Amino acid sequence: MLIKNNLLLITASIALITACSNESTNKTESSNMTAKSINPENMDTTITPGTDFYMYANGNWIKNNPIKEEYSVFGSFHKLDEDNTNMLKELFENAVNSKDSKENSNLKKIADFYSSGLDTVTIEKLKTEPLKPYFDEISAIKNTTDLITQLAKLQSIEVYPMFYIYGNQDDKNSKIVIAQVMQGGIGLPDRDYYLSNDKQSQMLRKEYVKYITNLLTLTGKYKENEAGKIANNIMNIETKFAKASMTRVEMRDPQKLYHKMTLDELQKLSPDFNWNTYFTLIGKPDIKEINVNQPDFIKEIGKMTNSISINDWKDYLTFNLINTYASYLSSDFEKTKFGFYGTILSGKTKMKDRWKRIVEATSGMLGEAVGKIYVEKYFPAEAKTRMLELVKNLKFSLKEHIQQLTWMTPETKIKAVEKLETINLKIGYPDKWRDYSSLKITNQPYVLNVISANNFEFKRKVAEFDKPVDRAKWDMTPQTVNAYYNPNMNEIVFPAAILQPPFFNKDADDAVNYGGIGAVIGHEMTHGFDDQGCQYDKDGNLKNWWTQQDIDNFKKQTAPLIVTYNNFKFLDSLHVNGELTLGENIADFGGVSVSLDALKKTLKGNEEAIDGFTPIQRYYLSFAEIWRQQIRDQELMRRLKEDVHSPARARVNIPVYHSDDFYKAFNIKETDSRFIQPDKRIKIW
Ligand SMILES: [Zn+2]
Repeated sequence: MLIKNNLLLITASIALITACSNESTNKTESSNMTAKSINPENMDTTITPGTDFYMYANGNWIKNNPIKEEYSVFGSFHKLDEDNTNMLKELFENAVNSKDSKENSNLKKIADFYSSGLDTVTIEKLKTEPLKPYFDEISAIKNTTDLITQLAKLQSIEVYPMFYIYGNQDDKNSKIVIAQVMQGGIGLPDRDYYLSNDKQSQMLRKEYVKYITNLLTLTGKYKENEAGKIANNIMNIETKFAKASMTRVEMRDPQKLYHKMTLDELQKLSPDFNWNTYFTLIGKPDIKEINVNQPDFIKEIGKMTNSISINDWKDYLTFNLINTYASYLSSDFEKTKFGFYGTILSGKTKMKDRWKRIVEATSGMLGEAVGKIYVEKYFPAEAKTRMLELVKNLKFSLKEHIQQLTWMTPETKIKAVEKLETINLKIGYPDKWRDYSSLKITNQPYVLNVISANNFEFKRKVAEFDKPVDRAKWDMTPQTVNAYYNPNMNEIVFPAAILQPPFFNKDADDAVNYGGIGAVIGHEMTHGFDDQGCQYDKDGNLKNWWTQQDIDNFKKQTAPLIVTYNNFKFLDSLHVNGELTLGENIADFGGVSVSLDALKKTLKGNEEAIDGFTPIQRYYLSFAEIWRQQIRDQELMRRLKEDVHSPARARVNIPVYHSDDFYKAFNIKETDSRFIQPDKRIKIW
């Protein structure tokens, strides 16, 4: 499922490639541990805090938790996600065994969806049979009108050849949702893979063509020798899309993505593609306005509609359909897809157990229906109360930080505080749940249930176009281990699932919670005030509220940050992209410093040590703990290209070595290798 481009998450979406990010292992310890909130056994005290704090805090945990075959990355977020999978399984099994679930109730739908996913006998027997009507219609395409008809049909079941479409608030009128047309059409995770000449990209392109060939051959519609040629044609189409696409760094600038137009204007922009037909087919013939995120890309689509042969388009659509749904078909399809996206792209060597994959799919497809029963059983009301208190204290601390800033002008400070005070907060779960009554889930074949859920989701999206914004809406389910800031809503959102140890621990001392979820809250809040946040006002409109002087000062302030992250090296020759990750790095700096000051206020001078660590030391240790992880080289390489977040080690080590209190707390001396002179330490917030 597509994560909106403009949401600022605390970490990359765990299910980055939905069907292949299967993460699992046996449950070895409960995350709701009553054991120590900071466990010294997880540290590696042979390393000094002044050499590598990340390893000092996490070294033994990392040593003792070698990455399992089915993971490409495993850390605190994934551990929680894994525990969640077990909790969800119990809920789903209860749903299946429930005697009194009514026809068409959410519980019955959950039970039917889950059961159909576990029915491997039917799945193996049917292979691609349930998709036959779609294949047949694609083969019958004769002209561009047919092509657009099939494109619209595929998009309505969340298969996205050519481009994405979804609804989001109008950046310049945040009260209204408008249709967003977004670049897409490629099967590799980033345009650069098609265009870069480095060895890794060349290898991936070759493997990708092989993968397309294999998948097409499996359908039985192509002979192996002909499939290879067709795969190259598909690769050519995708390369054209890649060339017309914006880079990820360009897409960080919301002004560059704002091109609101009417249907007539869109038709003029890209005359060879019949947009009238398209919008009629997706159920919105009277669409008022559309935001075309990348006009050059859309122009190219128009040109390509005519320059590419109908036969090539047919193959391209066929591949898109099968690539999207391979994970819900027989094991030969599943394995082939995993072999490329799971193993070659991410380094995993084993698929997760089937039941875990089905738990994840059920949770993803029936999002809030699952969320409702999840929070009823697992989300304690007291977590919400403690969170309200934490957020209140963090807000107060950020307000003080804003007022003391040397780089922000006084008039802008007033606006910043105003914006801060209007930040909306969502904790745990939505007040109003999504209505699933029109969704049809039955005991039909698994892939048809997935198609049905996807179609339900697509229709819901389209129905929102041109309508007023529903402020109660959530963009993440309660069972997601993540958090986000949404600039259009000016809100921070913390799903129930992240409010568990090590992020949030109701039995732990304040230092641990401020170092964990406190730093996450601070991170999300400061997003409202950084180089992207300054472009959105308190009502979520794209309207800069900084003076030119603020912008210049901020650039000066953050320039060394770009250099610092650029210089952070991995695997010998790779480095973080300081520009791509700038917004997230600023937020990490903000999170650490704002939450620390909020903690100091609650401590009121209490320096009592627990397990030999002072509260301030525990704060930094807790912060390091939330980012501990194992990551495979392939995954790290992929993320350095795509992820707006820096790798975990940089997320810990860079902010702490620029934090004055850290030096005092751990007695770091000039002779320590990571020592930074006080006047060279970067301070943004
Ligand atoms: Zn963030």
